Amino acid sequence: MPAELLTQAETLKDWLVKTRRDLHRRPELSLKEKNTAAKCADEFEKLGFRVRRNLWGEGFIADLDAPKGKGRVAIRADMDALPIQELNDLDYKSEIPGVAHMCGHDTHMTCALGAAKLLVGQKDKLTRGVRFLFQPSEETPPGGAKGMIEKGCLDGVDEVYGLHNHPKLEVGKVSTRIGPFSAAADTFRITLMGRGGHASTPHENLDPIPAAAALVLELQTLISRRLKPGTPAVLSVTQITGGTTHNVMPDNVFIQGTVRTFDEPTRKLLEEGIGQMANATVAAHRLKTMKYEFERGYDSIVNHAGAVESVRRSAAAIVGDSNVSIDQPAMTGGEDFAYYLQHKPGAFFFLGSGNAAKGINEPWHSPRFNVDEQCLVVGSAVIAKLVTG
Ligand SMILES: [Zn+2]
Ligand SMILES: [Zn+2]
Repeated sequence: MPAELLTQAETLKDWLVKTRRDLHRRPELSLKEKNTAAKCADEFEKLGFRVRRNLWGEGFIADLDAPKGKGRVAIRADMDALPIQELNDLDYKSEIPGVAHMCGHDTHMTCALGAAKLLVGQKDKLTRGVRFLFQPSEETPPGGAKGMIEKGCLDGVDEVYGLHNHPKLEVGKVSTRIGPFSAAADTFRITLMGRGGHASTPHENLDPIPAAAALVLELQTLISRRLKPGTPAVLSVTQITGGTTHNVMPDNVFIQGTVRTFDEPTRKLLEEGIGQMANATVAAHRLKTMKYEFERGYDSIVNHAGAVESVRRSAAAIVGDSNVSIDQPAMTGGEDFAYYLQHKPGAFFFLGSGNAAKGINEPWHSPRFNVDEQCLVVGSAVIAKLVTG
């Protein structure tokens, strides 16, 4: 039966490739996925799914009920593209200047549609219903997941799954992990405010430059001294701006950067710790004051153990045990799939889409990103297997 699913998915390959390439040619940015959503929702309707369009923005849900059995499993796909000019030389390259599917969300939608086709073929055997969640705006915080959830996309759902292509994972492989899968990705901004003046009379000014230099170094001690050894976290200062010339001390210095954490206590400790250190820097360097902002990005995806086992089992049935890993290292990138798992059990996993021999391994968001389209066949079959159990 599982091998059968893969064989059936293979017969869909031409359709899958065409569907993905059509989406690829006409990418749309976050919150502007109008034509993308309409095209996909039309496909679901043609297949006999019950579709609720514009649930939140262009986001929609498509349901197929199980004649026997109860419960419902949800599969999420994201629809948005990126503000990037595609540099691939392909006959199906993006036709929209400066916009392209360089994160491969076109493949996620296509895998979901492929799975829908496979499931319709065995509707009588379904032991639970299925819902496809097509979400807008994954790339642009605050993201579309929260809005979709608020509008009830998880009502009546028992479990929720999502996947992302992975260009560094060979096509035919699937990888996931129990627990934290992606980082919470937050931004901090600090303005140290002193009093500028002539560079020759530092005693008459309140110089923010050495204060900023000290603070940049001090901030790393939050990672090395405040966190329990072994706690994964990243704190990177990525911008420091102050002053205009060699003989003028500036009033202010601006510092910003990113924090990546995998659990709420660590996130909170760093959020507070950065503010405490900035305040202490003001006191130690006799500055006037400071301004501190900590802007929360997406929460961390935390996969549920039982759902990870379902992914492992389903994927192994399609691609074989040796091609499935549950030791995927947690990624320091962010993903708003996190919010679905705060409401329902489920898991997120990587679908191999790379092919090193063919030179298909450019990272996400590269202007030369692409996938090996065999991933559409594997992804469709794995999702169908996850649903049918
Ligand atoms: Zn992306
Ligand atoms: Zn993505």
